[in-house]
Amino acid sequence: MTTKQRILTGDRPTGKLHLGHYVGSLQNRVALQDTYECFFIIADLHVLTTKPTRGDIAEIPQNIRDLVLDHLAVGIDPNKVTFYVQSAVKEIYQLNLIFEMLVTVPRLARLPSIKDMARNANIDEEQLPFGLLGYPVLQAGDILMPRAHLVPVGKDNEAHVEITREIARRFNYLYGEVFPEPEALVPEVGTLPGTDGQGKMSKSAGNAIFLSDDPKTVEQKVRGMYTDPNRIRADIPGRVEGNPVFAYHDAFNPNLEEVNDLKERYRQGRVGDVEVKRKLLLALENFLAPIRERRAHYEANPRLVDEIIAAGNERTRAVARETIRLVEEAMGLTYFR
Ligand code: ATP
Ligand code: MG
Repeated sequence: MTTKQRILTGDRPTGKLHLGHYVGSLQNRVALQDTYECFFIIADLHVLTTKPTRGDIAEIPQNIRDLVLDHLAVGIDPNKVTFYVQSAVKEIYQLNLIFEMLVTVPRLARLPSIKDMARNANIDEEQLPFGLLGYPVLQAGDILMPRAHLVPVGKDNEAHVEITREIARRFNYLYGEVFPEPEALVPEVGTLPGTDGQGKMSKSAGNAIFLSDDPKTVEQKVRGMYTDPNRIRADIPGRVEGNPVFAYHDAFNPNLEEVNDLKERYRQGRVGDVEVKRKLLLALENFLAPIRERRAHYEANPRLVDEIIAAGNERTRAVARETIRLVEEAMGLTYFR
């Protein structure tokens, strides 16, 4: 029997997932679950870097359930993927502290992502939390705790995986070979635009179609979608490029012939927005139907999700204890135990 390589991936529990998440990460995760041993971290401690109040924390448990439910709904198999909650695996805190010794402050401070996160959270430089600067170090703890080989991430996170690699190298150099040097796996997919055509689909921008939206909501959102603004009548030639309606057709309509025909007629001014959107809605409904069915199954047994998380935490803690044992032995950090 060959042992599978390990994957570590995950999200912060900040809300429900949308079609953009499906395109950018979920479909990749579904595809990888058969080939790799997958650990899926629900990174609640990372939420605290920008949202540490009691009120912020009170939102986390429901967000965790929604996140897991979205994954199960798109076809992640809980027998193949280990879901776990970051704060439930205390060994991650331990690794975080050790790794803090293996990276410099200027290296972290130079990362554009830290400044971006601070800006998005309305935190100015003078108020930058130590923990936000340390975000990539904690992430190194997440990734190296299960001694993962591969890390599927979005482009925005590639630089953080690089920090993890540096920390792994530094650790192995100082104390001996404990960690694999994990590689980022960045899917070659574009960014799905929002329904408003004003940027990427994002839950904070109010331009998202959620995987959990009901048919009526999806219909309303598709009807209201931004198209080519210069096309005030169906007989005016339209632009397909940069038009979110066609970006969604490309992503979710498997009928290539239909999509190409619509694009051609759109360019020529021989099809109305109504028909293009109606066919998109049908494609989206076909895509969402099995997702809704799986979601309904889990929603009918709400304890299932909690049990999946508890079992995942348990399984992960066993792996984490072994990692800490290896780390402390390699470091000689074994006295007075
Ligand atoms: P949002 O941006 O909706 O507020 P978020 O902040 O929770 O969501 P991000 O960190 O932006 O999540 O995205 C997590 C991952 O999901 C990204 O690395 C990316 O792979 C994917 N993703 C999110 N939005 C999109 C999108 N519109 N198109 C493609 N991929 C996306
Ligand atoms: Mg975002």
